Amino acid sequence: MEGPQTCSPHVLLFSAPAQSHINVLLKLAELLSLSSVRVTFLTTEHSHRQLTHHSDVLRRFSRFPAFQFRTISDGLPLSHPRTFSHHLLEMLNSFVSVTKPLFRGMLVSGHFGSDLTCLILDGFFSFLFDLDDDFVKVPIFCFRAFGACSSWTILSVPNLIKQGQLPIKGEEDMDRILNNVPGMENLLRCRDLPSFCRVADPNNDPILQFIVNAFIRSTKFDALIMNSFEDLEGPILSNIRTLCPKLYSIGPLHALLKTKLSHETESLNNLWEVDGSCLSWLDNQSPGSVIYVSFGSITVMSNRELMEFWHGLVNSGRKFLWVIRPDLVMGKNGEIEIPPELEEGTKQRGYMVGWAPQEKVLSHEAVGGFLTHSGWNSTLESIVEGKPMICWSYKYDQQVNSRFVSNVWNLGLDMKDLCDRETITKMVNDVMVNRKEEFMRSATEMANLARQSVNPGGSSLVNFDCLIEDIRILSQQKMPNNNN
Ligand code: UDP
Repeated sequence: MEGPQTCSPHVLLFSAPAQSHINVLLKLAELLSLSSVRVTFLTTEHSHRQLTHHSDVLRRFSRFPAFQFRTISDGLPLSHPRTFSHHLLEMLNSFVSVTKPLFRGMLVSGHFGSDLTCLILDGFFSFLFDLDDDFVKVPIFCFRAFGACSSWTILSVPNLIKQGQLPIKGEEDMDRILNNVPGMENLLRCRDLPSFCRVADPNNDPILQFIVNAFIRSTKFDALIMNSFEDLEGPILSNIRTLCPKLYSIGPLHALLKTKLSHETESLNNLWEVDGSCLSWLDNQSPGSVIYVSFGSITVMSNRELMEFWHGLVNSGRKFLWVIRPDLVMGKNGEIEIPPELEEGTKQRGYMVGWAPQEKVLSHEAVGGFLTHSGWNSTLESIVEGKPMICWSYKYDQQVNSRFVSNVWNLGLDMKDLCDRETITKMVNDVMVNRKEEFMRSATEMANLARQSVNPGGSSLVNFDCLIEDIRILSQQKMPNNNN
């Protein structure tokens, strides 16, 4: 029964149950499948249900007969809201107490087959393994969904604590420059550190400790895979290689996948219903005239912040396309009262949707800029399309990403910790009009580098080919007559 399919490598890919992780890891799954690697894609039951309900993923992956989805419990009741912004600790505890033993049991019992070549583990789940584990009989490659800039900053947190740079001593300390992150001297201020560093007792803060330890753990597996490219983050990737020499930088993954697909269709891996009507609205706008506004899948804001953004956008006089997820505004009970000037300004110049086909939106010629929360995927998607950004970072890695967008890559402006209508109006006009040429020049250069990296001879394509080759070698070493 050993046909060519069964001889090909078999990779188990385990994704965290978050929109951005599932999206990017499914792109990696598609890339592996296109390279004749058999993929088993594992995620939580809840995410799988959402994904299959709102996307065409089952149909799309049916073209790979050996591809299979598998699910695992996250230990939470069906009705649990599972919002990362509010329930992170509760979710982590459930993953540790329920998902961890379940997953380990599955691996030991051969639930995924006896022919696994390797495991590609979402770095979010690196805590599923302990340092001295020896029950896993295949190599583990860790996939990190954050950029190198934030990953390296997080890896440097223990040193920042040791050297007395953390904790941050109140609001008046936020602009203090940190010179202890190698390669980022004179760049990072306290306010640019990941949000979970804003705590009084970093040595005993459960979320900070959990995340930092998970990142350190990520560098101890057999290899690291990162969604970045050398022309964007080369020096920082080199720093990470001092901890984990086997590091494949293969991003931007969505751009790499596009080069391999003969058809023009976007690989949509959405957990929510997409409203494509915004594309027709964009078709009727002039080139470069629209600012696209989206804060990703987990950001939430207060009613006050929503109103500041809304006034700021309307007052800017620019056209805007805004993604307002149903759960974007915290504690919203009933209808929000909308002042008439906002209603009028939105009718004239705005368009709102609950969830957009973001990659298509960013590639639309009508879009001239992106007001973003600086999630890593949104940042990369904007870079590939050469769209300047205004960054309003919310949590986790976003504070670091936005600092790099503004102060290293010169791709836009960083609002960092401000949320008032005057700043928003000014920044929208700076990016869309006053400083447009300057930002467009660097955005176009970076977009070209991003595209080069995934095309023949480019670093990410070369690294991806190396990854495939290494997986093939592992698979051949596992074959019965090479089994010594
Ligand atoms: N996204 C989308 N439609 C939207 C908003 C976001 O498809 O209306 C996608 C976006 O293209 C990106 C992901 O959701 O791939 C968000 O990931 P990111 O890392 O930017 O942020 P997160 O959601 O993890 O905060």
